[in-house]
Amino acid sequence: MSRQPAPLAFTLTGGHVIDPASGRDEIADLAVQNGKIAWIKPPGSPAVGETVRVDGLVICPGLVDIHVHLREPGFSHKETVATGTQAAVAGGFTSVCCMPNTDPALDRPERIRQIRETITQDAWCNVHVLATATVDNQRRELSDFAGLLAVGCPGITDDAVPLQTVAQMRTVFQRLGGTGRPFLAHLELEELSGDGVMTKGPVSEQLGVAGQEARSEAEALRCWAQAAAGLDEARLHLLHLSTAQAVGELHRLWEAGTFTSLTAETAPQYFCLTDEAVLRFGANAKTNPPLRSEADRAAIRQSVVSGDISIIATDHAPHTPDEKAAGLDDAPFGLIGLETCVGLVLTHLYHSGDLSLPEILAKLTWHPARLLGLPAGALQSGGTANITIIDPNKHWIVDPDQFYSKGRNTPFAGSPLRGRPWGTIVCGQLVMREGELLARAEVTPPAQRSCAGGGTQEQ
Ligand SMILES: [Zn+2]
Repeated sequence: MSRQPAPLAFTLTGGHVIDPASGRDEIADLAVQNGKIAWIKPPGSPAVGETVRVDGLVICPGLVDIHVHLREPGFSHKETVATGTQAAVAGGFTSVCCMPNTDPALDRPERIRQIRETITQDAWCNVHVLATATVDNQRRELSDFAGLLAVGCPGITDDAVPLQTVAQMRTVFQRLGGTGRPFLAHLELEELSGDGVMTKGPVSEQLGVAGQEARSEAEALRCWAQAAAGLDEARLHLLHLSTAQAVGELHRLWEAGTFTSLTAETAPQYFCLTDEAVLRFGANAKTNPPLRSEADRAAIRQSVVSGDISIIATDHAPHTPDEKAAGLDDAPFGLIGLETCVGLVLTHLYHSGDLSLPEILAKLTWHPARLLGLPAGALQSGGTANITIIDPNKHWIVDPDQFYSKGRNTPFAGSPLRGRPWGTIVCGQLVMREGELLARAEVTPPAQRSCAGGGTQEQ
């Protein structure tokens, strides 16, 4: 990519500024200078620097995705920090959390420092590194939670390698006690999911493939509840929630007050698709948790609409076309999602009339930022200018060949969508405009809590 000088000062004029964190929802101009938001003022205020007209577009805090697989280290044939974060900014995200099921696993402070060097060199957006719960992802010995949090990891997770015993889950809560941090849990009991490649049901039977029992998710949540019983502090965040049963369990546990905090995220595929997508897209619809029944899809969608599921994340999980060509039985689990998320969410939740833009954007900005204490998710004068500009009415058709991600594994290929990111501003620099990547912004490691901002770029 070329490194052309980007304007250090510019003013977005005529846009609709929506900041769910502050409740701002109005037509306003927004000026960016030296990496920061200089001001937000009524339309027509004297501009700072270059004027960028964004009439009819939405200006919101840079989107935050707390569930992204960047695949480094170890799987750079699937994705890299560079390509994954290019996909992120193309999709309107300015901050992502990368998942630690890498090789080697992101399980100790030295390895966190190493991946941060790659991030500093290659990332197009802010990247926060989640650490894995067990040494080498082996699920035998828990990792050094205190050490990992001390080097700035915003959370610990068992994503892709779900813990299976109540005893280990209990130790997880004990180790996180007093930190205020939730554990990010992948809900799956392997005795129920077994070697299933999709959800067990009429479609798996029709295809003659092994199925995972859908109740695996709710049963795993019951184990976490057992583990939390009687503890002073137990904070849990549920990754990629996918079933009606787990939603029911969530309500029961809220009522019982079992957890100090209990939150949930889902990904667009769980409220847009059912397991029938596997009939059409084969391994490109194979993911874990697998796509579910229509009743599950409807329950997840309803929970997003009601607010019970407060966070939308993508679980962007790239694989190579060759790996996915191995067929339903042998292909790895996972779908890509960074470049389709905004379109799917606006098409299926906003243009459907179910949620307002501020309600939707809260799930993509300050809710995830607040959960993990990330320096992101709000528009404030003087704050780092991480901003997303969205064209809520743009009609487009998903074409995986256009993705910046190395992955092409999506069951949304060919889907007509309405709503697309128009521009992405990272640390005060417009890095994506109308689908084109411009120049990368310098992003300092997230342990420093925020990106370059004022001091360094203009030197
Ligand atoms: Zn994941």
